Amino acid sequence: MGKATDFRYNTGATMVPWAAVGENYNVHDLMEIIKFLMQGSGKEYDEALEAVWQQVKKLDALATPPGKLSLGSKVEEAEAKCNAYLGTNSSTFVTNATAGFEIAYKYANLKAGDEVIVPAITFVATMAYPLAVGAKLVFADVDPKTINMDPADVARKITDKTKMIVPVHIGGYPVDMDPIMKLAREHDILVLEDAAHAFGAMYKGKKIGTIGDFAAFSMHEVKNITSFGEGGIATTNVPGFEGEMKRARFLGLDFTCPIKDWLYNITPIQGKYEPFVPGNASTTEIQGLGLTLQISRNEEIIAERKRAAAYLTKRFAENDAIIPQDLGNDEIKPTFHLYLLQIDPEKAGGDVQVLKQKLAEKGVTQIAHFGPLYRFKIVEDMGYNAEEIAKTCPNCEEVFYKRFTHLPLYGLSDEQLKYMADAVLASVAEMQEGK
Ligand SMILES: *Cc1c(COP(=O)(O)O)cnc(C)c1O
Repeated sequence: MGKATDFRYNTGATMVPWAAVGENYNVHDLMEIIKFLMQGSGKEYDEALEAVWQQVKKLDALATPPGKLSLGSKVEEAEAKCNAYLGTNSSTFVTNATAGFEIAYKYANLKAGDEVIVPAITFVATMAYPLAVGAKLVFADVDPKTINMDPADVARKITDKTKMIVPVHIGGYPVDMDPIMKLAREHDILVLEDAAHAFGAMYKGKKIGTIGDFAAFSMHEVKNITSFGEGGIATTNVPGFEGEMKRARFLGLDFTCPIKDWLYNITPIQGKYEPFVPGNASTTEIQGLGLTLQISRNEEIIAERKRAAAYLTKRFAENDAIIPQDLGNDEIKPTFHLYLLQIDPEKAGGDVQVLKQKLAEKGVTQIAHFGPLYRFKIVEDMGYNAEEIAKTCPNCEEVFYKRFTHLPLYGLSDEQLKYMADAVLASVAEMQEGK
């Protein structure tokens, strides 16, 4: 307890010299959070909850609330844990991966007239900022084996206006980064890795997300690990920019050189070409705690997903019309965020649209959120011609319409995995029999 005359706000590291204006959580709020995180009903549930309520009230009488709820020691702890895990010193915990991408795009001073090479197939988040500022999106065709960006097509699509290349490690399977980094260095282009699915993936002895100039991982609720629903880790390899990443997360506040009679300054953040004005992507202490706890299980989670993927891949060897997920090797270690299921339409006697329908009828969930970006209305409305772009992305057209879908991997019982494998095999067999 502070003195009655001390109204300063205890931030953990320091006492901020203004009166705290926030309302602390009280025990009722905590109970609601417990009820939200552990939902249930029935007599037994109600009784157990009542017992927790009595204990929480007792705890509350003995405890003090945290001094800080945003950007404090728990966020720092999560970042330190990420640094140790990834082998970097730049991990910055931001609201989500999209916000992390924004810092990189601003660093590059991306604007109208510039070109950005993105893969033809990814989630919209990859291209949101370039689209918003009117930069030109150039869609690289995909490698039909992985559906990741094909470095050979990136090489063909580089022009003297290309400012950034954005490889996306789809499903947590590493993009072939060596040729991309080589091209980028030859042409003075910045590389931003969309590592949303790839926390813990390895490429030739390096962690994904530590190879490009910038990267961001997603801790959204559907990703391998989460920080209570939203979150992202942004990293950089730009020498000397690690500290600036932290300021770029929070509006450029600079405590090192306060203006006269005030606490801090706002100083510009130096990008590659010009200073830029950052936004606010701050995260909370609760998210920090959640992320720290989940990171310690990440390897276990990847191993569990890999076990599930290996089972499916083994089962699919029964039918050569099915092209199973590649499980990686000593150099390439995926995170198995999704299972990439492909078929050979000739051998299967039909394309993946038929398979998707059959799987849906058998109750098998598919993860259907990746389509050709250039087919979206928002892109067409900005003046892009989908049919013209499609001609430059033949593999994308072929794999999307004829060959692939994604299956979920984690949290499945052996029985569910077997059901899924049986359903895929039965569906492809039906197609082959012309049913
Ligand atoms: C989820 C996802 C993102 C965005 O992540 P957020 O943390 O939700 O911003 C970016 N790229 C890909 C490929 C994704 O799947």
